[in-house]
Amino acid sequence: MNTSDLHIIPNPLVAKKTDKPFLIAGPCSAESRAQVLETGRAIAAKGDASIFRAGVWKPRTRPGSFEGIGEPALAWLQDLKAETGMPVATEVANAQHVEACLKNNIDYLWIGARTTVNPFYVQEIAEALRGVDIPVLVKNPLHPDIGLWIGALERFNKCGINQLMAIHRGFYSYEAAPYRNVPKWDLAIKLKRSIPNLPIICDPSHIAGDANLISEISQIALDLDMDGLMIESHCDPKLALSDAKQQITPDVLHQLMSDLNMPKATHESDAFNRNLNNMRSVIDKYDDEILNVIQKRMEMVAEIGKVKKENNIMTFQIQRFFHILKTRKSTGLELGLSKEMVYELFELIHKHSINIQNKI
Ligand code: PEP
Ligand code: MN
Repeated sequence: MNTSDLHIIPNPLVAKKTDKPFLIAGPCSAESRAQVLETGRAIAAKGDASIFRAGVWKPRTRPGSFEGIGEPALAWLQDLKAETGMPVATEVANAQHVEACLKNNIDYLWIGARTTVNPFYVQEIAEALRGVDIPVLVKNPLHPDIGLWIGALERFNKCGINQLMAIHRGFYSYEAAPYRNVPKWDLAIKLKRSIPNLPIICDPSHIAGDANLISEISQIALDLDMDGLMIESHCDPKLALSDAKQQITPDVLHQLMSDLNMPKATHESDAFNRNLNNMRSVIDKYDDEILNVIQKRMEMVAEIGKVKKENNIMTFQIQRFFHILKTRKSTGLELGLSKEMVYELFELIHKHSINIQNKI
């Protein structure tokens, strides 16, 4: 199946609002009937969220932590829905979870990051949903493999699930980072390019891992044209049994939502559009210059390749590679460019230079 063949039925709740982003909110876990109702009532009263979320089965890294209430908590979600009218969502990780959710009229299911990585589980859940018309939200896998993410969406689609959405919740990283899970916006954008009508929601709570960082990540997501947000909210975050550090109260959530700026894709003013086009033509010129310089570089690379070949010298020389990265990085730094960008750029340029020499 070509990814563009995915058949996606748009969700009416996601249909772009101009003044406020689409929001799914609720606690990491359903902990007690009182906690679900108190949190859900407060969220419903503020009117920011279209869907209430709460985890019922919690995938925890270590055994012994709170692993969720399980099936009995689904009744609390039903109680909240009956009272507030808000549709409810929970995470499913196997066929039994699906069966319990269908029995308890859960409206939305999401697939957690630890499940998306495993095609066996995804297939099992998809099969359990065959013939059921329920929206499914697929979180990105733990590691940045877009194939697994698309593969999971395809497995659901093949079992007849058409109301699909994706959730970008960031990726595990070995390197120290300000965030719990590093966002890979480029991957989310790539997914959007492969499946243009697939809504992509950002989960700033699991990206941040810290209540104080949720607002800045949410704003980036909106600036990048993501289709909505999933934010963890708990009536008393410090007492939360899971993800306590990243949860915010419904009041704080309301303030955060009010402070977010909803950017527009286009501007109606002709003067603005003319000015933007003029500035873009300057960029176009610089890009031409970049390509011309790269062409000259590659000509020289080919020359060197011939000399190496005539003298039986290896094409790839690690010392030279390190020297290039180090010197370009420090020149880039002097010019105020990002270290990461310069590093990635020259890694790519060097890789293709070596390819050219290998072909000689
Ligand atoms: C969650 O949403 O509570 C959750 C467990 O998310 P993730 O699968 O993104 O870790
Ligand atoms: Mn959580």
